[in-house]
Amino acid sequence: MTALLSIKDLVVRFRTPRGLLEAVRGVNLDIPAGASVGIVGESGSGKTVMSRAAMGLLSGSNVERSGSVMFDGQELSSLDSVQVREYFGTGMAMIFQDPMTALNPVRRIGTQISEGLRVRLGMSKKDAMKRSAELLAKVRIPDPEAVLRKFPYQLSGGMRQRVMIATAIACNPKLLFADEPTTALDVTVQAQILNLLADLRKDLGMSMVLVTHDLGVVANNTDFVAVMYAGEIVEMAPTTELFANMKMPYTEALLKSIPKIDAPTEKRLPVIEGRLPNPTDRPEGCGFASRCSYAQDKCRQDRPELEDAGNGHLYRCWYPLGSTIARKSS
Ligand code: SF4
Repeated sequence: MTALLSIKDLVVRFRTPRGLLEAVRGVNLDIPAGASVGIVGESGSGKTVMSRAAMGLLSGSNVERSGSVMFDGQELSSLDSVQVREYFGTGMAMIFQDPMTALNPVRRIGTQISEGLRVRLGMSKKDAMKRSAELLAKVRIPDPEAVLRKFPYQLSGGMRQRVMIATAIACNPKLLFADEPTTALDVTVQAQILNLLADLRKDLGMSMVLVTHDLGVVANNTDFVAVMYAGEIVEMAPTTELFANMKMPYTEALLKSIPKIDAPTEKRLPVIEGRLPNPTDRPEGCGFASRCSYAQDKCRQDRPELEDAGNGHLYRCWYPLGSTIARKSS
């Protein structure tokens, strides 16, 4: 399948008073046209920094970035910030975890949605408002005309996220990045928003990148999953293959930390003990070694490279799940 977005050897470092902080370490990732790809990892794993760098949203004198990001045949790193901004809305769009920080609290919903239509598509005020109401209907907001006149604080969290989605899809982007789009919402609303995103993706023929800490969210909503840990992709596979033949102990630990619907409520959820390695002073071997229940001496000494298990499945582990002989014999 042709890649709409192709990320090659992306490295992002931040200059900090504590030294050079390497947030993304040589990521390679293709997002095929029309596909839904999940990027999963704990907070601090580099998934959000990687996504923002891919969209050209990281700038500042303390940021060092290298590697290539090709979007729809255009190398984004060769564009200046004005040109990158022109891609927004029409090429790529993004929705965030907390719509309250993305929406302007003192402007009416109609003004906020229609602004992009007027600036990017040159619509008249009247046409942009009419289209904004259609977009609110498309994201299943009842009584869109009334909602156009409201302020963000007058809407529930789920409604605000629908408004953000309407704003993001207003100019028919080819690729939608959704960064933890349901984390701030309760479970029922989460499911509604994920269903809405899946339907919009199909209707509009968009590609989608779903960035989340929750492996459960990607299970039913993506075609392909990349798991990130300490700034690297540590496992990557088609979604069904990943869940059928999981290789990485880290991915397994993420899976175990998902709440089970039938689990006793008094039982605490398993957590991944320990911490991510210090990004300014990384250990020699596998970054997960201090937290991994399968770790052996080799893990602490040598850094594993990505291995190909076939079926489009890559993993970064000396002793992948299922290879008990390798574990015993080392
Ligand atoms: S390389 Fe070793 S420490 Fe790292 S995930 Fe695999 S088994 Fe665990």
